Amino acid sequence: QRIAHLGGWEWDFIHDRLEVSDTVCHILGIPPASFNQTQSAYLHCVHEGDRELVVEAMREAMTEGRGFDLDHRIMPTDGTERIVHLQGELLIEDSDRPQRMLGTVQDVTDQRAAEAKIYFLANYDGLTHLPNRNLFLHRITEALACGMGTSVIGAVFVLSLNRYQRISDVYGPRCSDHLLQAVAGRLQRALSTGLTAAHVPGADPTILARLGQDQFSALLPHLPAAEDSAKIAQSLLAAFDAPFAIDGSSVTLTASVGIALPGTDGTEADLLIRHAVTALTIVQDRGHSSYQYYSPSMNASIAARVGLEQDLRTGIAANQFTLYYQPQVDILSERIIGVEALIRWNHPGRGLVSPLEFIPVAEEEGLIIQLSEWVIKSASQQQKAWCNSGLPLIPISINLSSLHFRQPNLANQIRLIVHENGGDPRYLELELTEGVLMTDASTTVATLNQLKDAGFSLAIDDFGTGYSSLAYLQRFPIDTLKIDRAFVTDLKLGKSDSPIMRAIIGMGRALKLHIIGEGVETRDQLAFLRRQGCAAYQGFLFSKPVPPDQLLPLLRSHLHSPIPKSA
Ligand code: C2E
Ligand code: MG
Ligand code: MG
Repeated sequence: QRIAHLGGWEWDFIHDRLEVSDTVCHILGIPPASFNQTQSAYLHCVHEGDRELVVEAMREAMTEGRGFDLDHRIMPTDGTERIVHLQGELLIEDSDRPQRMLGTVQDVTDQRAAEAKIYFLANYDGLTHLPNRNLFLHRITEALACGMGTSVIGAVFVLSLNRYQRISDVYGPRCSDHLLQAVAGRLQRALSTGLTAAHVPGADPTILARLGQDQFSALLPHLPAAEDSAKIAQSLLAAFDAPFAIDGSSVTLTASVGIALPGTDGTEADLLIRHAVTALTIVQDRGHSSYQYYSPSMNASIAARVGLEQDLRTGIAANQFTLYYQPQVDILSERIIGVEALIRWNHPGRGLVSPLEFIPVAEEEGLIIQLSEWVIKSASQQQKAWCNSGLPLIPISINLSSLHFRQPNLANQIRLIVHENGGDPRYLELELTEGVLMTDASTTVATLNQLKDAGFSLAIDDFGTGYSSLAYLQRFPIDTLKIDRAFVTDLKLGKSDSPIMRAIIGMGRALKLHIIGEGVETRDQLAFLRRQGCAAYQGFLFSKPVPPDQLLPLLRSHLHSPIPKSA
């Protein structure tokens, strides 16, 4: 037993008398004479962090009659932490109630260290200390089992250094090793920065691995959207922007990245890596640093998306946007009572891009605030310009995006922009969709009240498509309901009646809201809205959204002195 560092113990737990062999005392690092033969004397030697574990195991053995065995640390007596394996079982005697437990204590410190070393060698790369292919495959398999590729979006990246062999030949093996270590460090940091841009909070951790020579791989087991993998690839490549300082010389490196998406590109770890490598070879052949997806359709959609995003940034800097205006018309008198400002992007190559295409991208990239402020600014200037040209103040409706609506101190900021550009908040209406209003309704009411206090009118846009609760509708200080075009379009499809529309109009009237029907294209639709008591409409029947110069003649012929909607 002594040679095996194995000690024995016997515990009479009814009288709390614990007898231990000399080897146990030796392992615990205390002289046998000073061990006071109680459970707590033993626990006193157990590392604080493991005491609970030991007590619980012994308690369970006592109550459930099972044996136990576990590893625990002991309080270091000479400064080095030691690990022991504790084993015990209940002694079943003739008496009806067991009262003793016996077991062994073995010092397994060296054994565990050897096992850890074996595990490390089998699963980690000795040079960079990153997981190796073996562990990486294992992690992918685990993530796949947890739903990656089915219920969860993930991505597998393989990165390889361009011209590594030549660099290694020039600088020698020692330098190359340092270089690979530095690359590993940068990639690790790049992953954590890339992640702040695209990561589901609380999701499984990312892992970076070294697959071989100059080949690294990363697994992101939980992304908000497949497109976000492009951001990660970009940040991995950006890790090579600055040269590496290795042993006194400055080395410039570039890399290529191949990406495979679990699910579409494979449902097995091994296959995903192989597909990512296939994609990688395609970029490497091109000879410059970039990334590539395994699936051709993903490449196309990412390229389109990245292109649009870059163009949008350029477009904002180059001021490629204009506002079109669509009249809102009083249903009985056919007079223009206001206009809705609709943004247009006049791209030199793409032509006129629809807001439906670029507003969502601008939202995601956080560019919408700049755009939205520009819209408010330019609508205010337009309002003033019309006034200066002798027209009365024309109410303008402006669409507010959800991100903008959530900006702190929104009301003050908008009011400032309006004032600085000669607009009048009492003649400006802000359109919000149901989705914007319904998320976090309590702070929404506060923001809406501040906007009202600043003088703005408020409208719910595209009403009927979201999930507005009628109770909230009454709590929100809303002036106008704009019935979504879908309901009006429904009428065109051979239906002469729409119970939903009748209900919406009836309810809106009961709540004393100004109701506008959107997307009116035919006389029949107009007639229906008129019969139901809808106050105003907007649609191609009267006019499409047009630039200010084309609107001017319409304003001159169809305007009467408007009363502000909030008055
Ligand atoms: P929205 O606010 O509901 O605007 C009405 C949309 O319906 C406009 O599309 C308009 O051109 C279209 N429309 C109007 N009458 C008719 C009709 O009779 N028939 C048909 N088929 N369509 C009609 P547009 O200009 O493409 O804008 C689409 C959406 O983009 C807008 O829907 C709005 O949600 C958003 N948007 C436009 N400008 C801005 C902006 O400055 N800021 C923000 N955040 N969103 C904007
Ligand atoms: Mg609108
Ligand atoms: Mg609308």
